[in-house]
Amino acid sequence: MNVLVINAGSSSLKYQLMNPETGDVSAKGLCERIGIDGRLTHKVGGNKVVKDIPMPSHSEAIQAVLSILVDPVDGVIKSTDEIDAVGHRVVHGGEKFADSCLIDDSVIKAIEDCIPLGPLHNPANLLGIRACQSIMPNTPQVAVFDTAFHMTMPAKAYRYAIPTEYYKNDSIRRYGFHGTSHKYVALRTAELIGKKEFKMVNCHLGNGSSMAAIKNGKVQDTSMGLSPLAGVPMGTRSGDIDACVVQFICNKYNMSVDECLTMLNKKSGVLGLSGVSSDFRDLEDGAQKGNADCQLALDKFCYETAKYVGAYAAALNGIDVLTFTAGVGENGSYVRQEVCNYLGFMGVKIDAEKNKVRGEEMKISTDDSKVEVWVVPTNEELMIAKDTVALVNAAK
Ligand code: AMP
Repeated sequence: MNVLVINAGSSSLKYQLMNPETGDVSAKGLCERIGIDGRLTHKVGGNKVVKDIPMPSHSEAIQAVLSILVDPVDGVIKSTDEIDAVGHRVVHGGEKFADSCLIDDSVIKAIEDCIPLGPLHNPANLLGIRACQSIMPNTPQVAVFDTAFHMTMPAKAYRYAIPTEYYKNDSIRRYGFHGTSHKYVALRTAELIGKKEFKMVNCHLGNGSSMAAIKNGKVQDTSMGLSPLAGVPMGTRSGDIDACVVQFICNKYNMSVDECLTMLNKKSGVLGLSGVSSDFRDLEDGAQKGNADCQLALDKFCYETAKYVGAYAAALNGIDVLTFTAGVGENGSYVRQEVCNYLGFMGVKIDAEKNKVRGEEMKISTDDSKVEVWVVPTNEELMIAKDTVALVNAAK
């Protein structure tokens, strides 16, 4: 079976053609500069092809992807009929979607209704869906939501302590993001440790970072909120912040709320603290060379991450497993070690040798650690493809 996984942004579109049973990726790539001029980067195994192709809209981008997938030289399939289904990443599903679903007109309408909650992402996701529908009208399309896996949170976790009318009238609440990644890691961890019933905290630490408290495969709490700005500090996002900071900065610097939010989303986090970079490798280099601001950025990131683990361990009344995933979680030995140093009080102990692992599945805790600590590389595309095939098969 071949599933085409699509992650459409406003001017870009990532794709992977994969077999959801084996996880094998036959081709993947990226369309960039959609609406400007258009460039396709296509990879098959170790080979990469870059082509400038006019892409006035997402429709031409999808068409370019389908053309190269069936190209006699660079392609991997003979005909687009070999694509059994398309799985779309959709960022915000609001309260309407607690799971992935087959796309029909009512689903499109519901994704449109969620635009006020996900104004940056949902319109682009819809462009990708509509382009695929018009070019491949007979191929089933599935929407996989970043928010869906978090819908099991109890009200005490997802409600903000503000007047109820904002929840009732405007759906203002914690939704959480990276749900597809948290779901993949939770399912994979269950396989790795051979248990279904266990309590875990997953640290998805990348350029964007989020934490999830998961009990028996169901999310109990997560660190991102109405938007991805909340939670631990990130590459360029501030993470949790006192709302009065916004008021103060807007008043003092005559900034609009939108301008202030752009600063909090794009210029803050470890970039803002270090003044050097949002990339943790640069911060580690800087700190090693004695840059105190880089060291502070790393310290703040590890401290806040560890605080979330502690808080979630309390929320779950103890945890059995701690997992690290995404760019920093999978590769950042320093960050993992520093986070775990704070958690000694919970009996967390990691093996310094095993903690050198990069990008591989590995248990890094010692045998006498009270909590198993694992590195579990995430695979959101595989999760999307698996959900897609499950829904398509169920509908047969
Ligand atoms: P992601 O958003 O999941 O793709 O993660 C990207 C981030 O992973 C980059 O910004 C880097 O900061 C981080 N990263 C990648 N490799 C390493 C590494 N070897 N050590 C520390 N951080 C890394």
